[in-house]
Amino acid sequence: MSRKNLLTLLITITGSVCGSEMLILNEAITDGMLCRGHHWTPDEANLKMKEFAATWNNKASWEKRKAKIRQGILDGLHWDHMPKIEGDFEPIINSRREMDGYAVENIAIKSFPGFYITGNLYTPVNPKDKNPAILNPHGHMPNKRLTHYMQLRCASFARMGAIAFAYDMVGHGESKQINHRMPIAALLQTWNSKRVLEYLLSRPDVDPKRIGMTGGSGGGTQTFMLTAIDDRITVSAPTVQVSAHFFGGCICESGMPIHTSRVQTNNVEFAALAAPRPLLMTSNGADWTRNTPRIEYPYVQSVYALYDAEHKVENVHLATEGHDYGFSKRAISYGFFGHHLGLPYKRVGYDEGFDETSVTVLEPAELYVFNKDQPRPTDELVGDDAVMAYLGFIYDSPSSKK
Ligand SMILES: [Zn+2]
Repeated sequence: MSRKNLLTLLITITGSVCGSEMLILNEAITDGMLCRGHHWTPDEANLKMKEFAATWNNKASWEKRKAKIRQGILDGLHWDHMPKIEGDFEPIINSRREMDGYAVENIAIKSFPGFYITGNLYTPVNPKDKNPAILNPHGHMPNKRLTHYMQLRCASFARMGAIAFAYDMVGHGESKQINHRMPIAALLQTWNSKRVLEYLLSRPDVDPKRIGMTGGSGGGTQTFMLTAIDDRITVSAPTVQVSAHFFGGCICESGMPIHTSRVQTNNVEFAALAAPRPLLMTSNGADWTRNTPRIEYPYVQSVYALYDAEHKVENVHLATEGHDYGFSKRAISYGFFGHHLGLPYKRVGYDEGFDETSVTVLEPAELYVFNKDQPRPTDELVGDDAVMAYLGFIYDSPSSKK
């Protein structure tokens, strides 16, 4: 029996598909549909941006294109395969620690039945009745959620008065149910971000009009993806990632046909879908964002001009820096979110330059949600095939045909 038939049989027996038709991924998604990594040269991308710009000349024609781009992301991700789930987060929250001006808790929420999002929730110690919230996805580094980069950023946001949620990429950190490099990683990560957003919106202490999102590199990709398809993100800062010629090097960024399914587009137009919401595109001199002041930013600003909102999109270009979300880039984000979310950002030492020394960097084990006292949920789907089968996907890999 072939792998496809075996999986179909298993699914028929268990009845575990959540409603959609089964889709054989490696037949439905072919190489020609994907724009991966350095798909274009910077020279080619410059000409492509001119082609894109020629497709609209006013707000109405841009919004027509915008609708196609947004639907193209959803189609490319096969969003229709995700369960119709609302609420039902079943949050597991433990190990609250009160620190200097903020508290940190370990948290897991249900993404969909049998699949969990693991993270940390940083909150102000003296919260108001309604507080802004900021989603903090991360980029590609082992256990990145637990590193000092993420702790400093999220704790500083909480010290400023925001509720900051740091969550694992799929297959990283405590997200152990699947491998990271699996065929529907882009779908799962975007879906997880939506669920984190909806969890935050479900909290009575969150102000739904002040929802930020930021991440660097692969976290930047997650940021502009959710911002593009969900207007409930009201302030966005994809960092060191928005590029006209580079489409993301990982399967979780460019492994599904999000750039071609309705119209040929790229990540610059994804970022522009934020308009007229406040958007910060921090860039640097040593990666695929090195042309941002000349190529990417002028295009996005021309979109913002349609809404008379040029002042709501910013580019800070650090020509002598590289591909990271280090202190200088975090400091830019503190000022940006402080302004647009109405936070008293002097709380992180603004007068003397942003100062993160009040943050205590914890050991990774202290930030784990699951341990001997808090076991993992017993209903977890385990393995790439189990998760894909539940959602109605089959990946019939060449090796499985032997
Ligand atoms: Zn990835």
